[in-house]
Amino acid sequence: MDFNLTKEQEDIAKAAREFALGEFPERAQEFDRNETFDLDIWRKACELGFVGVFIDEVYGGAGLGLFEHCLIAEEFWAVDAGMGNAVITTTFGAELLGLFGTEEQKMKYLPPLVKGEAIISTAITEPDAGSDVTCAATKAVREGDEYVINGSKIFITNGTLASFMNVFCLTDPENPDRHKRHSFFIVETDRPGFEATKLRGKLGIRANDTAEVSFSDVRIPASNLIGEEGNGFKELMAFFNQTRLHICAMAVGLARSAMEESIAHIKRRHQFGAPLASFQANQFKIAEMATMIRAARNLYYEAAWRTDQGRMDHALTAMAKWYCGEMAVKCADEAVQMHGGYGYMDEYRVQRMYRDAKILEIYEGTKEVEKIIVARTFLR
Ligand SMILES: Cc1cc2nc3c(=O)[nH]c(=O)nc-3n(C[C@H](O)[C@H](O)[C@H](O)COP(=O)(O)OP(=O)(O)OC[C@H]3O[C@@H](n4cnc5c(N)ncnc54)[C@H](O)[C@@H]3O)c2cc1C
Repeated sequence: MDFNLTKEQEDIAKAAREFALGEFPERAQEFDRNETFDLDIWRKACELGFVGVFIDEVYGGAGLGLFEHCLIAEEFWAVDAGMGNAVITTTFGAELLGLFGTEEQKMKYLPPLVKGEAIISTAITEPDAGSDVTCAATKAVREGDEYVINGSKIFITNGTLASFMNVFCLTDPENPDRHKRHSFFIVETDRPGFEATKLRGKLGIRANDTAEVSFSDVRIPASNLIGEEGNGFKELMAFFNQTRLHICAMAVGLARSAMEESIAHIKRRHQFGAPLASFQANQFKIAEMATMIRAARNLYYEAAWRTDQGRMDHALTAMAKWYCGEMAVKCADEAVQMHGGYGYMDEYRVQRMYRDAKILEIYEGTKEVEKIIVARTFLR
């Protein structure tokens, strides 16, 4: 067993860290407070090759693994989660096209994502279909050579910025098997009847756009179907098995940074005539953070490595997703605690980390949903 990164992987992580350190810190607080972002930073990240590294070379990507994509996500989130997400999630959906898109679809939609010319979203969640995606009611009805889409989606990452999005639609409502009722379509957002409204007031990752989107008689060519009609649920699960990996990496990045900030603070600040770091209560917090970060990283490294080897382990990925998310929330909480009142203020990075971390336990499958997957595997 070799636990070392290759030289190329080390270089990727180092370059991602340097890019994030050069671009993020100065503007992170402004974007967090105003819920905005400067897309020139994303374009720059594309130019430097940090976006969509997992996309095949034929489609303009670097042809690397999801593991390398994770390394970049970890470094970005270690510097700032909101800005990191604003950059890294611009390809959220490319994985689905990579797995199930036709050659024509891949040729058309993937290259612009890498070049910084387009952003993709993936729209699954609806007001009445969250964890239970089989309740999604946005309908796609076949009419000749077209499908007509009606419905709405909520909480869509990059919803107001995307040029096109993968939309999870109901195509066979009467099918007795609820896992065969849905299909994925790619929808260009400049089509008549499409509307996106930015959602404001998020707890964290506020630099990253989140939107409500609606489809009112949106017509798309039948060739925009992704994969097979009725296979949407299966495709979604395969997609999540890939994308949940970068969530784990984000969690490790944030937790790492929360620990670093805490160490610096408790060494600097004195109370009762001694540095906070001299108190065992704080030392134990650091020891626990370091242990949990290591455990989380090992979990996600193995899950990502297996996926890249074509030996994806569904339960392992689910374990990594819930554990990494929960671990990040715990580390951010302890980081604020070690900062005392200062940690409560947005002048201090740990306050933002505390808010940013929570999403890791919610999106792309809540931690409860992940535990259901793990439990099912072991109880079967
Ligand atoms: C910032 C942000 C970005 C997002 N980006 C996207 C995106 O790009 N695309 C997209 O489609 N969606 C996106 N989402 C939606 C996200 O994936 C959902 O919010 C998430 O899946 C949970 O669904 P819900 O909010 O409806 O919660 P619910 O499903 O209502 O769940 C509420 C609580 O009940 C628990 N629960 C539900 N069912 C069970 C069960 N059977 N057993 C035990 N516990 C259960 C959940 O774990 C959770 O704790 C985003 C959300 C946010 C906040």
